[in-house]
Amino acid sequence: MRDLSIVLPIYNEAENIPHLYTELVPILEATGSSFEIIAVDDGSSDASFQKLKELSARDGRLRAVRFRRNFGQTAAFAAGFDRAGGDVVITMDADLQNDPADIPMLLAKMDEGYDVVSGWRQERWKEGWLAFFTRRIPSATANWLISRVTGVFLHDYGCALKAYRRDVIQEVRLYGDLHRFIPAIASYYGVRIAEVPVNYRPRRFGQSKYGIKRTVRVLLDLLTVRFLLSYSTRPIHIFGLLGLLSVLLGMGIGVYLTVIKFLYGAALAERPLLLFAILLVMVGVQLVTMGLLGEMVVRTYYESQNKPIYAVREESGDDGDVSPAKGAS
Ligand code: UDP
Ligand code: MG
Repeated sequence: MRDLSIVLPIYNEAENIPHLYTELVPILEATGSSFEIIAVDDGSSDASFQKLKELSARDGRLRAVRFRRNFGQTAAFAAGFDRAGGDVVITMDADLQNDPADIPMLLAKMDEGYDVVSGWRQERWKEGWLAFFTRRIPSATANWLISRVTGVFLHDYGCALKAYRRDVIQEVRLYGDLHRFIPAIASYYGVRIAEVPVNYRPRRFGQSKYGIKRTVRVLLDLLTVRFLLSYSTRPIHIFGLLGLLSVLLGMGIGVYLTVIKFLYGAALAERPLLLFAILLVMVGVQLVTMGLLGEMVVRTYYESQNKPIYAVREESGDDGDVSPAKGAS
């Protein structure tokens, strides 16, 4: 029988937490699997961690982690993944927008042999006409673009309700705002990905932590993901290629200018083309150098030990105490 780990990123969701807990637990129990809920409080300034602590004191299956400050949703996911012990790891928003009742459906899909199952939120226009312009159109464009660029075609990258096999998710190192791209990053390891339609509900308590600013960040992240997917282990292939082309073009122009100078006595001093040739050669040399530096960075990256991207303030243990006294049992 498989075990489940549910990872919940939480940033100022105090009002939602009790509702989510009471909705989630019966559904998880009904699956017949053993489970753990890992709630990561991402530096909330409201009573979120208090609520989590109360729940985890009553129910040992809930584990609460508290960040020192707001590190962002990606870091919260990463902390959850680091702690997950289940064979299947399920992520979802803690604001009740994802419907826990969809979890059995995700699991059924996993049982068909998929490594990653992503939710695809239906009927999101319920949120109103303003949301149509600020959320739906940007999100549809983003999903199309991300799918094209990464080659992993999903309708809804933004849906937090997803299920992963643990061995897959623990390969994925997350930085910045990259949690949205986990399926694409995981595709690097050759995984089977499926999509299932899921319910999506308007927020009842608290407010969204993101605005339209997110779109720009997603675009920049996409650039990173594309680069990492294609060239992360061989940066010299992209920088070196561009650099060599630049050097060759510059030298070609240089040869041409030399020929016309010595054969036809052309004056080169006031020809911008000469400067252009010099520029191309110099830029080319720099690009090749950058590629070589990239190669060194990549080696350090892959060979050094993994550093966490977060700092934990406290974490509910056996007695909810906070001291990191590991050896004192
Ligand atoms: N969240 C987080 N850290 C942040 C921002 C958000 O852990 O810095 C959590 C938040 O509590 C929620 C989930 O990430 O559980 C999704 O956030 P939100 O509902 O604000 O995003 P939206 O649904 O508006 O896209
Ligand atoms: Mg939300």
